[in-house]
Amino acid sequence: MNDVDAMNCTALLLVDLQNDFLPGGALAVDRGDEVIPIANQLQPYFHLVVATQDFHPADHNSFASQHKGQCVGDVIEMNGHPQVLWPDHCVQNEVGSALASDLNQASIAQVFPKGTDKRIDSYSGFFDNGGLHSTGLGDYLLSKQVTDVFIVGLATDYCVRATALDSRRLGFRTWLIEDGCRGVDLKPGDCKAAIQEMEDAGVRTISSRQWLDDKSDATKDASRTEIATGKFLSLMQSGRWEYSHRKLASDVVVIVPMTRNNEWVFIEQYRESIGKRCIEFPAGLVGDVEGDADEASMDAVRRELMEETGFEAARIRHLGSASNSAGLTDEVTSIYLAEGLHRHGQGGGVDGELIQIHLVPRNEAAAWLDRRQNEGLNVAMSVYAGLWLAAR
Ligand SMILES: [Zn+2]
Repeated sequence: MNDVDAMNCTALLLVDLQNDFLPGGALAVDRGDEVIPIANQLQPYFHLVVATQDFHPADHNSFASQHKGQCVGDVIEMNGHPQVLWPDHCVQNEVGSALASDLNQASIAQVFPKGTDKRIDSYSGFFDNGGLHSTGLGDYLLSKQVTDVFIVGLATDYCVRATALDSRRLGFRTWLIEDGCRGVDLKPGDCKAAIQEMEDAGVRTISSRQWLDDKSDATKDASRTEIATGKFLSLMQSGRWEYSHRKLASDVVVIVPMTRNNEWVFIEQYRESIGKRCIEFPAGLVGDVEGDADEASMDAVRRELMEETGFEAARIRHLGSASNSAGLTDEVTSIYLAEGLHRHGQGGGVDGELIQIHLVPRNEAAAWLDRRQNEGLNVAMSVYAGLWLAAR
């Protein structure tokens, strides 16, 4: 759908998602708050997330308060450029200049302040309005090998527009995520004209839904090709990355079983890939059963627990989900706690799996695992992950 190719590196650029531009702020953009959840939802689907921040000294020349006899909205000349006069806004180190509190900020790699020179305004996240001084954003994106810049933020007809145009000028493929922006429309039609101007400059428009749909279909993405295949696994390629993909199963479940006597239930089996016996929690693939490809995760949890350990659980609770080894595989594991166990069978697995079962008292587990490792066995990562999640 979008023609971002396999060798791309995508950056999500959050433009001025700051308190003063949100409803209630000094320079509020109508419905500006509606873009925050969109910005949050998009973030995980990009290689890099960066933000710009309007960050003025208190006596900035773009403030109407600095010009006797002038009002907000008047246009004056400043350093040879027309300058709209604004209310005081985004003053350095005041709450108005802070990034929106509802914005997820943990993944933002760097924030680029702009408008810090009192003599000149800076709508673009890349340069001041005179095009003289760089914020460092362009060099930063180049240093990260970014090819595609996706823009959301405020406001469409000012800082988003200027940022998108500079991004094009610097040679980045540039995308405007239209529903992730809101405009000022000082004159009705300003936003529409700004979008037209961006498109004329080669900026492509896309909706957040288009991007997310495309990403959720990632394994079917044309940029990911299967370069080898077996009965159960495919070797996939995307850009310079290769990774394995399970062909039949829809999900992987790991079960952390706790008996009524406060014992963990571990299993032990020989694993061909490492040529060793391995200590694990019971685990299996959802949909890995003849004629039931649509098996529910909870059914798979009960089935695997019974097959491998012979236990039935009174209570099962999802503890969390985690990628297994994202450099090696696209697989994500869901981890479940199973409590109130009743023995109903022998366990041991199916089709000659030769699974051995170990009941280990809760407070002896760490020492027991160390001992088994010293004996030369391998302990699965999911054991440590399951114990940690169960202890929280
Ligand atoms: Zn400003």
